This record gives sequence, C-alpha cells and structure tokens, in this order.
Amino acid sequence: MTLPEIKYTKLFINNEFVDSVSGKTFPTVNPATGKKIVDIAEGDKADVDKAVAAAKAAFKIGSPWRKLDASARGVLLNKLADLLERDAKTLATLETLDNGKPLTAANIDILICANTLRYYAGWCDKIHGQTIPADGTVFSFTRLEPVGIVGQIIPWNFPAALAIWKLAPALATGCTVVLKPAEQTPLTALYIAALVKEAGVPEGVVNVIPGYGPTAGAAITAHPDVTKVAFTGSTEVGRIIMADAAKSNLKKVSLELGGKSPLIIFKDADVDQAVELAHQAVFINQGQICCAGSRTFVHEDIYDEFVKKSVERAQKRKVGDPFTETTEQGPQIDDEMFNKVLKFIKSGKAEGAKLECGGERLGDIGYFIKPTVFSNVTDNMTVAKEEIFGPVQCVLKFKTLEEAIERANKTSYGLAAGIVTKDLNTALVFAQSVQAGTVWVNCYNIITPQTPFGGYKESGIGREMGEDSLKEYLQIKTVTVQLPYKL
Ligand code: NAD
Repeated sequence: MTLPEIKYTKLFINNEFVDSVSGKTFPTVNPATGKKIVDIAEGDKADVDKAVAAAKAAFKIGSPWRKLDASARGVLLNKLADLLERDAKTLATLETLDNGKPLTAANIDILICANTLRYYAGWCDKIHGQTIPADGTVFSFTRLEPVGIVGQIIPWNFPAALAIWKLAPALATGCTVVLKPAEQTPLTALYIAALVKEAGVPEGVVNVIPGYGPTAGAAITAHPDVTKVAFTGSTEVGRIIMADAAKSNLKKVSLELGGKSPLIIFKDADVDQAVELAHQAVFINQGQICCAGSRTFVHEDIYDEFVKKSVERAQKRKVGDPFTETTEQGPQIDDEMFNKVLKFIKSGKAEGAKLECGGERLGDIGYFIKPTVFSNVTDNMTVAKEEIFGPVQCVLKFKTLEEAIERANKTSYGLAAGIVTKDLNTALVFAQSVQAGTVWVNCYNIITPQTPFGGYKESGIGREMGEDSLKEYLQIKTVTVQLPYKL
C-alpha cells in the first residue's frame, strides 16, 4: 500500500495555508501503530481571531460571496463534490491513516461526503421565505437569511463526513465558516480545504483551524463575531459549548452529542438476521459511533440462542490492519479512548455482567480491542448506562413491548433506537413511544443526506442533514410594507 504524500499540515485562512501565530505544532498519530504521522500547525485564539476576521470580511455586504447568485453557490458545491470524487482514493487513504477505520469504510465515508454536497447543492436556490396575509393595510413577507459567521467543531470518528455534514448546509445558505477538526484527525479536513479553494469558493468563506478543544475550540465558541456554533462531540463538551455561547454573545447553538441507543429484538425476528443487524449496529466504526445500538434488548424466548450466535459472530469479526481489504475493525482512535473502553469492560465484569468473549486488547501494537460481548446485562450497570464508544455489545433480556419501551427510554440520551420484528403494530407502537431522534425498523445506522438526524433529550439540539439542517444556518426576517389602501 503506497501512502499518499501529506500535502496540507497548516492552518487554512483566506484560502491560504499558513503557520500558526505561535509557530506551535502538534503531532497527529496513526492509531494502528501509535506512531506519529506528521506535525500539524496548532491553532489557538490568535489564529481563530484571524480566521474569524477573514470569515467576517467574506460575509460583508457587497462581498463576492454575498453577491454570488444562489444557484452559483449550488454550482460550487457540485464542483466540490466532483473534486472529492476525483480525489476519493487519496482522501479515504488519509482518513484510514489518521483515524484507523478500515479503508473499505473510509471509501464509503467519502462517497457520503460527495452525496451530501450534491444534496445541498440542489437546495441553494430553493431557500426562500413566504408572503403572509398579515392583519391591517400591509404587505408582509419573510426572507430567510444566512445566520452569518459560523463556528463548526467536529470530532474524530467521521472526520471527513462530519466536516461535510457541517460545511454543506452552511455554504448552501450563504454563511461563512471557521471549522475546527478534532486534534486526533486533522488530515482530511485540511485536504478538503484545498479542494474548497480549487472549486472556486471565494477567500475567507471557509477557514480550517486544527488545534485543541480548550484553546482553539473554546476561542471559536467564545468569539463575539461568531454568530452560530455547530458542534458534534461528547455531551460533556456540549454543555461547555452552550455555556460559553451564552456567556459571550448568545450565539445560536446546535449540538450533536452522545447516545446510548436501544435496539429491541422481538421474538418473531429471524434470529440469524437479527444477530447480524445487532452486531453491525454496535461494532461498526470500532464502536465509535454516536448512534451505536449499544443496548441490545432481546426477548427472553430467543435470548440464549441470540447470545450464542452473537458471540460466534463477534469472534469471527476480522480485526487488524485497516488497509487490508477483509478487515472489519481497526484500532480505537487513541490511547485515551482505548483505556477508557478497557475500563468500561472491567466495570462490566465487576458489576456482574457475563463476559462472553473479547474483553481485552488485541496484540501489543496500536489500539486494537477484541470484539466484546456481555450477556446478563442489567439496566443499572455502568455498561448499560454510559456511552462506551468502543466494540462492546451489551445484551439485555426483556419480556413485553411495554417493558422494552419503558427501559429503552430510561436514559438521559435520545439519539436513536431500533427494533427488529415482523409485526407492523409492534414496530409502529415502538416508533411512536421511544424518545429518540431516529428510529430504525428492521435496519440500523441508515443515515441519508435527505433525512434529518439529531437527538432528543441530552443527545443534542437541532438537526443535521435533510431540509432541517438548513434551518440551523438561517434566520427569518419579516418585512412589512404599509400600503395606501385595501382592495
Ligand atoms: P469531544 O467532545 O471531546 O471533542 C469533540 C470536539 O470538541 C473536538 O474537536 C475537540 O477538540 C472539541 N472540544 C473539546 N473541548 C472543547 C471546548 N472546551 N470547547 C470547544 N471545543 C472543544 O468528543 P470526542 O471524544 O472527540 O468524541 C466522542 C464523543 O462525541 C462521543 O461521546 C460521541 O457520542 C460524540 N459524538 C456524537 C455525534 C453525534 O452526531 N451526535 C457524532 C460523533 C461523536
């Protein structure tokens, strides 16, 4: 496997790659080996100030970006999609190197990026207000205007895809952006920045500042000229973002946070199919996915068979070099998450869950963890309550639909839920009763550009993807005109 040359390691401000003001750098690490890939320019407050100034100038009345026809923004987004497709191989390889996800999965992520850009390209000239039959001798209409200078802070689990989830609707609505990738995975966001320039997006519209959360991230959230912040990451940091936004200039906030999503397997399910579905629901992306089906509730009549087959499936899961085509699971993102997951496994054992397989690291290089299955998990255990964000399946037992719904909802999270059943009534009752932003019936983890995604309860505020994501980047202006008389 020949690795691509890493061309972009600096901050991207005003369509140029530049060193950080401090001159500082930080290493980005290959999680499959634990070794440094390359040093990246480390942005902090001074760099964020520069980036926000660039984004502010690009958003100024009369700027090239403001004067561009809405349809021309669509052309730019389509062009960016073309460029992503042209360089898909390079982008996917960089993603696997930096994040550790199997190359087969990274290829899909880049495809999702291009599809998402094309979806939002189509929206650009279809965003409009209404005329309103207001009381009195007036003519009223609304304009949907871009919210302005947007800060976007993203995590490491889908570095390219989440950058595009955020950039595409922001650009479609005419906003300008300062984006901070996660410190673990800056490579693809910087490469995408180069493509943004190549596509012809005017300078200052997109700025990318790699760096750490408490410095670069916090500077974006606290900045008085940033009018909106969009964040994906942990619930813990989500709280900080909201507080910082409130303390600074009451900027708008959208948050995509953690989850502890229930997947209910009914007794009428085809057990083999359900085992595969539940396996993929939790193990995909090394278990590092916010909507993971991390509480597998199984009906008591099929529980033993389900556990036995799930263990067989987990033991067959191919863990190893993410560049090998047959690999299903790569390493965890870094030593911190690796140790966190192993600690959760320890707590599961200590609190009385039955470790059926896995439960330890694989090999002694990189951050690989064996696919782990716990049975006899009960609601009060730490592994059933907290987000593990790793390759750990927790299988719980239930008797009735009512009980399953009640227990599914017994969490402060509400990102997603799933159910496997042949009975339409059971599926629909569950879909209506479960407190989650997305419900999957006889499938899991299907997210498309057209469908809104986001959380109930402490899993977040606002929605990404679909038409709803546009609303996060727009504000409504009412214009009322006095008329001389009524007809
Ligand atoms: P994290 O919250 O630590 O970091 C996410 C981003 O926030 C990073 O870019 C980080 O540098 C930045 N950050 C950290 N502290 C900050 C601060 N004080 N101010 C501003 N920015 C700050 O999360 P993580 O460990 O990178 O990701 C794992 C978590 O993210 C999991 O809990 C997972 O569920 C969640 N997640 C949610 C979604 C979703 O769509 N809901 C998607 C992916 C990940």
